[in-house]
Amino acid sequence: MPDTLQPFRDVDLLSLPRPALKALFAQAGHPAFRAEQLFRWLHVRLERDWTCMTDLPAKLRAELAEARTLAVLVPRLDRVSALDASQKIVLHTDDDHAIETVIMPMESGHITQCLSSQVGCKMGCDFCATARLPVRQDLTAGQIVEQVAHACRLGFALGLRRGGVAGGEEGPLSARPHNLVFMGMGEPLDNLQAVIAALDILCDPKGFDFSPRRITVSTAGVAKNVAKLIAAHPHVNLAWSLTATTDAVRDRLMPVNRGVPIRKMVDVLLALPASAHRKITFEYALLKGVNDSEDDARRLAAMARELDAHVNAIPFNAWPGADYQRPERMVIAQFVDVARRAGASVTLRESKGQDIGAACGQLAGETAA
Ligand code: SF4
Repeated sequence: MPDTLQPFRDVDLLSLPRPALKALFAQAGHPAFRAEQLFRWLHVRLERDWTCMTDLPAKLRAELAEARTLAVLVPRLDRVSALDASQKIVLHTDDDHAIETVIMPMESGHITQCLSSQVGCKMGCDFCATARLPVRQDLTAGQIVEQVAHACRLGFALGLRRGGVAGGEEGPLSARPHNLVFMGMGEPLDNLQAVIAALDILCDPKGFDFSPRRITVSTAGVAKNVAKLIAAHPHVNLAWSLTATTDAVRDRLMPVNRGVPIRKMVDVLLALPASAHRKITFEYALLKGVNDSEDDARRLAAMARELDAHVNAIPFNAWPGADYQRPERMVIAQFVDVARRAGASVTLRESKGQDIGAACGQLAGETAA
């Protein structure tokens, strides 16, 4: 007897973009439309219970359930900020690592969700709580997508509707966030294949159907993978976590700079194929006495002009054990003013969720214990 389960063993179906799912089903001798049906259950109806997927044959569902092909995340902790109503959700992998995602109501009325791409982060940025986590593990595409699915389910349970969905689907996708930013735990371009596969699923018109213009991928400067990401998803927005304007300071704050100095990364961004839609943003964490001088503001503005980039200036968010402080308010205001007068488009961004450890640089795999 042939082992009909064999092609599905050790596969996480949640991680497979639609073409890969169809190829797998073909290998197992199932017609392509079965893969389409399953993809719709997983990434439109956001169903994870095999018994509910009633238009799939019972035998196939039993086989897929037996092969344990869905690596779902379990929500363990849910904290809401008293300051700004942002919500941090801690989800656990089946090997019990904590992943954090943050749902942020923005002043525009839109919802932005911050996604994690790794447990911990090996980039080692000196100002970031995630870098201090002892565990380092890449998330799968399915674990990235599950963060979005969980936000949709939560919103739907609360009766929220955030805009139309392809095909007029009524269900959890109708409560999906407006924007996604890969700015949570981890360096997305250090987990490139999973991030690309997650984007495939999130942007699939027969899946979550996000416009790439509503998605931003942030990097500390993993230059070798920037062009690969853009080749796969030309219209996603890029954010560069810059945070210093000289190599001497950036080498100290962000070890990635020792291999990819500032000028090299600027040249990589300049060399990307043009896209009328793609935006480039600099994320600039303001650290007291480290990178907050007027000279820094002028150098930052010059780089922003060269790349036609927008600057998000983010006063540092403290976390237990951090060696840095945020600058005085007057210094922050002066920094932003100088950068603007030097021609940069700058937003002073107060991170959401500071009181629940959900702000930029604070995510550290909080546990329920
Ligand atoms: S700032 Fe980003 S890239 Fe740097 S250690 Fe933290 S999560 Fe990693």
